[in-house]
Amino acid sequence: MAAYRGKRVLLVGGRQSAFEWAALLREAGAARIDLSYRHDTPQFTLSDWSWVEALVAGMVDQPGWFRHLSAGEQEVQRLRLWTEGRLKLEPWLADRIFQPNVHLHPRTQVTMVSEKPGGLSVRLDSEEELEVDEVIAATGYQVDIRRLPFLSESLLAGLPLANGYPFLDEGFQSQVPGLYFSSFPAGWAFGPFFGFTIGVRAASRILGAVLSRSSPGLAAVGAE
Ligand SMILES: Cc1cc2nc3c(=O)[nH]c(=O)nc-3n(C[C@H](O)[C@H](O)[C@H](O)COP(=O)(O)OP(=O)(O)OC[C@H]3O[C@@H](n4cnc5c(N)ncnc54)[C@H](O)[C@@H]3O)c2cc1C
Repeated sequence: MAAYRGKRVLLVGGRQSAFEWAALLREAGAARIDLSYRHDTPQFTLSDWSWVEALVAGMVDQPGWFRHLSAGEQEVQRLRLWTEGRLKLEPWLADRIFQPNVHLHPRTQVTMVSEKPGGLSVRLDSEEELEVDEVIAATGYQVDIRRLPFLSESLLAGLPLANGYPFLDEGFQSQVPGLYFSSFPAGWAFGPFFGFTIGVRAASRILGAVLSRSSPGLAAVGAE
């Protein structure tokens, strides 16, 4: 963050990443920080993850739980997680954000960024004009397996995708035998919880059990 000392920075996005960047930039001595986001300012309040923990732990014994829900029921789970995770910001951030040189622009979008001598000129759809040195996109992530540079064209040809996500069996194996995906890319098949560290333990247990069944030599490692 030291590189941003004295800089004017625009963060595009208004969820946890953008706000954490803003706090860290300010503490590193950035001169001015603006945040532009399309929605209202989320609340600085604790999230309740207790229901997710039980749900994901249960998937070790029932790895097919999410895929067997109806499309509507899956959407309910996605929305519930999104509401908990995306509509709230960690409360310990508030004091670090509400500072004189941090400016929030809720319900705005960037319409134009152009180069100017000594920086960038940014126009928001609220008609505000900002002069900044850097623009940082904290706009989130989308899975697109086709962009993994180490998967060959021929392998990708045998890998059907849904919205960029691979189809996975209940042991995280894709339709290419021996090729497995966990965490965020497994979210389509296993549910959105797998985009968070909370999914990692369950994924390891499920995958460990599958691999130790197919390669008995791994059983000892799996047991550990
Ligand atoms: C900005 C951000 C904020 C997040 N905040 C939270 C949060 O608050 N709470 C939460 O629960 N989760 C959060 N997550 C999600 C969390 O980081 C992931 O769920 C978790 O890291 C997944 O663990 P993983 O080991 O599967 O993958 P990763 O932690 O991503 O580890 C992947 C590993 O693979 C290596 N690798 C990648 N490509 C190659 C390659 N070609 N060859 C060799 N090695 C390679 C990487 O170097 C890395 O070591 C956040 C994610 C991001 C991006």
